Amino acid sequence: SLQYTPVDDIDEIVKLSKASFEERQAEISKFKNPRNHDLKLRLDTLKSLYYSVKDHEAEIIEALLNDFKRSKHETVVMELVVLYNSILQYIKKLPHWIKPEKIRESSALFMFSNVSVDRISLGSVLVISPFNYPVLLGLEPVAAAIAGGNSVVWKPSELVPNTSRLLGNIISCHVSSKWLKVVQGAVTETTRLIQNPNFDKIFYTGSTKVGAIVAQEAAKHLTPYTLELGGKSPVFITEHFSESNMRAALKRVFFGAFSNSGQTCVASDYVIVHESQIKKIKELAKGVLDEFWPILDKDTDYTCMVHEKAYESAKKKLECTDGTTVQPSNVAAELPKNCLPPTVVFDVGWDHALMKEENFAPFLPFVTYVDLDDAIAKVKKYHNNPLAMYIFSNNKHETERIMTQVKSGACMIGDTLVHVAAQNAPFGGIRQSGSGSYHGRWSYSAFTHERTVIRQPFWTELMNGVRNPPYTPTKPKMAQA
Ligand code: NAD
Repeated sequence: SLQYTPVDDIDEIVKLSKASFEERQAEISKFKNPRNHDLKLRLDTLKSLYYSVKDHEAEIIEALLNDFKRSKHETVVMELVVLYNSILQYIKKLPHWIKPEKIRESSALFMFSNVSVDRISLGSVLVISPFNYPVLLGLEPVAAAIAGGNSVVWKPSELVPNTSRLLGNIISCHVSSKWLKVVQGAVTETTRLIQNPNFDKIFYTGSTKVGAIVAQEAAKHLTPYTLELGGKSPVFITEHFSESNMRAALKRVFFGAFSNSGQTCVASDYVIVHESQIKKIKELAKGVLDEFWPILDKDTDYTCMVHEKAYESAKKKLECTDGTTVQPSNVAAELPKNCLPPTVVFDVGWDHALMKEENFAPFLPFVTYVDLDDAIAKVKKYHNNPLAMYIFSNNKHETERIMTQVKSGACMIGDTLVHVAAQNAPFGGIRQSGSGSYHGRWSYSAFTHERTVIRQPFWTELMNGVRNPPYTPTKPKMAQA
């Protein structure tokens, strides 16, 4: 099992993290060009982080397999590859990001000034991550924080003990503890961390419920935070979506719903479909499931639920409710522990058990609508501000009607889920699904402060008379000229 960090050591770890940041800044400041030296240190640390993961890829895949029989394919494609791309992007772009950005200031007051925005490091930051993509959602923010020049304390998820232990060991061997410290633990340890007043930022990824706790604790010390939370992300299949693309659409929706066994923050959680389309969908659903899983047994590269409790409660939710379920044709009687087959559920109303909370299981309920405005109103009433929204429609106005009325963290038209891998676009939620964003240059913004720097020449002093006392009636007019 995973050895938790002793709670009484935690405050000291945070203190050391903060001290290592301050020491580094003092050291860097001795160089003639501190920024160049800082850049080199950050790049070296990012490279160590990159290779520490890359060199232990096989062990990471194995650890995740042991934790929740995570599909090897999903670990490689949905975690490792995305993480490598992100770290490599940070390495490539950092020499540009670290430079102050020159600003053209239009006010006459700054006509002869040198105005820039300098993105400065925050200090020591706390990164807390969830179980579902523990490598990517842990180490991408960690890498972003390092790119920003910060010291980091990382709290991985206790729900994937093999992976968290392995990553903790790898990091302590390969990445300087002056940059990155790992605190292992669950609620008690995390609570101690978020109550510490010395962090300069908290970056939290996890459930909306815990996100609110993090925000409350952070507020006590005015610690800034980014919250990457969850929720129910809807899929709209509208009246005017072309039937000829329906099979492809279902593949895309099922991919979003069943990857990682539905344990994905931006999973397609439920489908709202116009009643004229449901017949065709019912005809096609089983065929698509059978194409994806010609057989589902112990040898299938298919992810299980994270633990028995999640498995039991999901199973119960499905068993105790009505609706018509569709599963792949060839599901073995004996499945691995905590494994639930992908299940589409038709004939579901808004009051169905699967329509209440984020499913976080391989279930996909379909609700039908007649009037689009009514469907939109239901989304807003029950699951407002989702992390993502997916629209399948061939009608521009229909799409606009949905997008204008339903706010969401992100929106994909014609696909699901893969927007997470967009490298040059921000990723984040809105209100209940999160605040703040990251990825690409937004990652750099999340872990730096934008400091405006204005350099004033002295030869302009003659012109400053207008702003100085004595104030005469003519001066305001001159200032406005
Ligand atoms: P979780 O909120 O239970 O746990 C996340 C982290 O918070 C863990 O490190 C855990 O130790 C800690 N934690 C748990 N309870 C706590 C408490 N009471 N006080 C302090 N810390 C606590 O989330 P999870 O089950 O690991 O992950 C699933 C959730 O995360 C889902 O809701 C999902 O939508 C969301 N999620 C969001 C994103 C995103 O990018 N927006 C990504 C992945 C998952």
